[in-house]
Amino acid sequence: VGGHPKPQQGPMTVPGVKSIIAIGSGKGGVGKSTVSSNLAVALAKQGRKVGLLDADIYGPSQPRMMGINKRPASPDGKTIIPLKSHGVTLMSIGFMLEEDKAVVWRGPMLMGALQQMLGQVEWGELDVLLVDLPPGTGDVQLTLCQKTKISGAILVSTPQDVALLDARKAIDMFQTLKTPVLGMVENMSTHICSNCGHEEHIFGHGGVAAEAEKLGVPLLGALPIDLETRLAGDSGTPIAAKEGPMADAYARIAQGMIK
Ligand code: ADP
Repeated sequence: VGGHPKPQQGPMTVPGVKSIIAIGSGKGGVGKSTVSSNLAVALAKQGRKVGLLDADIYGPSQPRMMGINKRPASPDGKTIIPLKSHGVTLMSIGFMLEEDKAVVWRGPMLMGALQQMLGQVEWGELDVLLVDLPPGTGDVQLTLCQKTKISGAILVSTPQDVALLDARKAIDMFQTLKTPVLGMVENMSTHICSNCGHEEHIFGHGGVAAEAEKLGVPLLGALPIDLETRLAGDSGTPIAAKEGPMADAYARIAQGMIK
């Protein structure tokens, strides 16, 4: 996508977009992108107009998870026409990066790219735009919260102590930036053996619930480690697009996150 993005001043809104919700995590690999795509699809299934902005510069996985393998068009070299998949309007920073190249952008470039994806993409009328953030507390998170009018953030974590430690920092960042934390999602909270039905808490038990209570933020839901979820994500059709207990679990979280 051509043009040199220029950072703008002041909190911006995206025309036609009623609310922007960021989805963050302290650590990478806890399932933030998986949860983002599934919540987007679950919200769309409930009749909402949903956009998904993949802002994970280090590992943009939404094109894969949402089953999109072409770049969005930009007929005039300025406006970007987003793609649609499983009822969700999608834009990924992956479309602006070269594949297999490491991201060595500095803060101002990241800021520009983020503002370009918010401002130059023709999102149309949306009830909610979910933003899949990179893990941690870096420039993208800062820019989004400071430069954009966002409704709130959701934090994804596993119950493992090392993940919670970082999740706490991310929550602290959102609170410092006066971004309401809408809730936490515990991912990989348990594993049920498909062979014998035995339940095991691979990353510990109840850690996110305890943390959420301590921090005074709602626990929006807990999701198990689930083979179907992983396979569905890899195949480009999120599990929430199907029928079954995982789709139901995502539907409940989707209902709880939007009042
Ligand atoms: P993040 O965005 O936090 O880096 P991803 O969503 O990319 O994490 O997930 C990391 C890996 O774990 C992916 O391969 C994904 O398919 C898998 N995964 C995420 N959540 C689950 C789950 N609940 N059950 C099984 N696999 C999962």
